[in-house]
Amino acid sequence: MNSSQTRPRRLLLCLDGVPYDLMIQARERGLFDKFHAPSRLLSPFPTMTNIALSAMLGASVPLGYETIYFDRKARALRGGVGKYVGRRTPDKVPSTYMDQLDYQEPLPFEFLVYIAPETIWRADMRRFHERFQTAPRDRDYFAFLKGTDGLLHIRGAERLNVALASLDGLLRRIQAWCGSETEMVMFSDHGMSLQPNMRVNLQEHLRRCGFQFAKSLSEVGDRQVVLPTFGLIGFAALYCARGGESQLAEALVPLEGIDFALYHQDASAINVKGARGSARIHRLEHDDGSVHYRYEMLSGDPLQLAAVLSDLRRKELLTTSGYAPAAIWSERTAAHIYPDALANLYTSMMTTRVCHPADVLVSLLDGYYYGWSAFEYVVNLVATHGNAMRASSSAFLMSTHREFPAYVLADNAHALLRG
Ligand SMILES: [Zn+2]
Repeated sequence: MNSSQTRPRRLLLCLDGVPYDLMIQARERGLFDKFHAPSRLLSPFPTMTNIALSAMLGASVPLGYETIYFDRKARALRGGVGKYVGRRTPDKVPSTYMDQLDYQEPLPFEFLVYIAPETIWRADMRRFHERFQTAPRDRDYFAFLKGTDGLLHIRGAERLNVALASLDGLLRRIQAWCGSETEMVMFSDHGMSLQPNMRVNLQEHLRRCGFQFAKSLSEVGDRQVVLPTFGLIGFAALYCARGGESQLAEALVPLEGIDFALYHQDASAINVKGARGSARIHRLEHDDGSVHYRYEMLSGDPLQLAAVLSDLRRKELLTTSGYAPAAIWSERTAAHIYPDALANLYTSMMTTRVCHPADVLVSLLDGYYYGWSAFEYVVNLVATHGNAMRASSSAFLMSTHREFPAYVLADNAHALLRG
């Protein structure tokens, strides 16, 4: 792990939930001017910390999209608040990326950060600074500051900007203390949509459509649905009996706030069903390991990719069967309303992102959330993340010593962070 003989020591600092656009604006105000320009770091869908950091740090795949998840083998709901508030024992560690952290907030703060974010942020920054000063100076140091996510969720961008200004001051002191032998690398795990939020009435709607909610799936109940519910976030993962996926997706699409629903077609394709129409994402892997994607519009254009598609066709970048290399799609859509949609949405349904992927995975529109209603009594949500749109998908990555490309895929971040 220690590569300090061949490159400068690194201070890695992850700011939970700070979107690319807010970092660009902070730099326009003169903050973090010792860093090179930030690149757009594409956070995987659903845009949540555990999914993002396990991909960005090449760590083990989390069990579910959230702390409560559906176990496909046991066919039952697992996890929950007990897991969240209890002690950080190995069975509660969501992914091995946590083993890489030299500093993260003490466990009781994980909840408090959504109630008293300013206090937590100040305490967290002070503690990180103290720990960093006493850490061995011949190896990298990796700190994860979670206060920024809480600040954005319940206070909004202005209060985050105050926090960023204080962080800028701290990093200047640290840099003066360490000198240029230490490279600072700062990044975020996911972005955030800074809009007032409305709750999507998923359960009521599905009940009206004749579905029943269950904690486990019996093989026979084809109108039974399991819906793990936790944070107030921009996606929902649903589990149903085999063969019931398209019916469930069909029922979800007319509900206000739903952008689209994803479900499997076959071993190499997933369906996208939304208010703007239906499409299929096909994946093809060649013998040399190269991956290609195809966007097949069945009716309408749910991912708003028609213009990109015809441009690829005009430039003769599509094969006769309509495929283009994954890298071409990424390059053309890194700043699209759905960044890198084909690979991003396809992988969200695979075990390479979570151990127990959903049968139907729903992305909400910006301005909408779904979650556990008990949280709503405690927090007043002014921003959230989780969906596949640009604001939530665009994290940032920047360094004092290196210039990074305009965009970086989450799966490629590991080499830049730890290589
Ligand atoms: Zn969050």
